[in-house]
Amino acid sequence: MEIKGFIESSLLEWEGRIASVIFLPGCNLRCHYCHAAHLILHPERLESLNRDRLLGYMLRQRGWLDGIVITGGEPTLYGEELLELTDDIHAIPLDVMVETNGTRPEWVGRLIAEGHVEALAMDLKAPLTRPDYERVAGVATDVDDVRHSLRLIKESGLPHEIRVTVVPGLVGRDELERMAPDLKGADQVAIQNFQPDHCLSEELRSVVPYAPEELDELVALVEPVCRRVVVRGRDHAAAVRSRPQ
Ligand code: SF4
Repeated sequence: MEIKGFIESSLLEWEGRIASVIFLPGCNLRCHYCHAAHLILHPERLESLNRDRLLGYMLRQRGWLDGIVITGGEPTLYGEELLELTDDIHAIPLDVMVETNGTRPEWVGRLIAEGHVEALAMDLKAPLTRPDYERVAGVATDVDDVRHSLRLIKESGLPHEIRVTVVPGLVGRDELERMAPDLKGADQVAIQNFQPDHCLSEELRSVVPYAPEELDELVALVEPVCRRVVVRGRDHAAAVRSRPQ
């Protein structure tokens, strides 16, 4: 397993914590709104970072770091190697959060059951039907696997966040209404406004994200069934509208 990116400290990735972020390359999905094209399409063009050096950094900074986030791409593609990385981080000792697309429930299950993580974040991309998922994820996806991961995470007893990226014309009112029953019971749901700049699909790059009042309407659809809903990217539409043409 190669590490292709590292952020020394972030306040955004793990809410309420100062965390370093590790980026692992490769993904089994091709979401139209993905911003990790460099990581998932041509990871060989990116420099690999020295794992021991990064672990050494974490060891030196453990006094003020609150944890380490492992993201991608899709971290669970690495199976046992991912579990070993979490063990190395726990040995420092630091807490671990893994971000996943939920397509590999066997590894999500092991992360939880074997104590490899203190928190999880999972993307729910669309209503859980094969055509809906394929329309957003860009490839055929086994939605039963995604449903299984979602259940494991919601029942894990660990702090977790389920993230939904909303995109005009792709994931909006109709989709959120159908996703609401699956979001029910999650610790926290994050409604994330899509960001068109540099996203994977060229067509989406000209789509204006939702305005703040439209986001509020979308949140109102899921709020009744969710314990806590947060919104990210309220200013994305204004940023797109104000950029030079
Ligand atoms: S799951 Fe989708 S958004 Fe996430 S890295 Fe893979 S392709 Fe990109």
